[in-house]
Amino acid sequence: MLAEPERPALLELRVTDVKQFVYCPRIVYFTYLMPIEKKVTRKMEYGKEEHVQLDRLEKRRTFRAYGLTDDAERRFHVHLRSERLALSGVLDMLLVQRDTYYPVEFKYTRRRPELNHKYQLMACAMLLEDTVAKPVRAGFVYVTEDRTAYPVEFTQNMRDFVRATLTSIRDMIRYEKMPPPTRQRRKCVDCEFRRFCNDVH
Ligand code: SF4
Repeated sequence: MLAEPERPALLELRVTDVKQFVYCPRIVYFTYLMPIEKKVTRKMEYGKEEHVQLDRLEKRRTFRAYGLTDDAERRFHVHLRSERLALSGVLDMLLVQRDTYYPVEFKYTRRRPELNHKYQLMACAMLLEDTVAKPVRAGFVYVTEDRTAYPVEFTQNMRDFVRATLTSIRDMIRYEKMPPPTRQRRKCVDCEFRRFCNDVH
């Protein structure tokens, strides 16, 4: 009997690829196919400093913002990887209460969570499910400026969307096919890849 042909290994992706692809697919295209030297901007440095401070403050807070009681547990910077999805990422914070898991992503912004943040969180939840072998039904995007934890319920549509996004990213990289620019041109103003996007004015 002939042996079954081996399936090609999936290209390993990161949760942040999902977030960026939803924000503007071209960013992921340039990241993989035209790696450029990244400058550490003041904004990024500030983000890191704020991250450290937030961890400290968060340790002293109660769980009220998340609707949980004080027997919950916090774990910071949780590394997650799924062989099945060929996907990995670092979750900002994991809340655990009585065997129920809630992923949390921090956002240093004034705006309410946007779609790219929600799908990043969904991707983290899928990694978590593969790690703990339990369904993860909800999580939170914590917006630092208004100190609010926005709950996100994970639906089947969101899971399908993340899977479809992973396939789109892999196809885009494999065929080196540049996607169209984002239609929300305000995103281009501060974009580090703008000089490569000749069709964006
Ligand atoms: S400049 Fe605009 S279209 Fe080009 S990568 Fe940046 S956000 Fe996307």
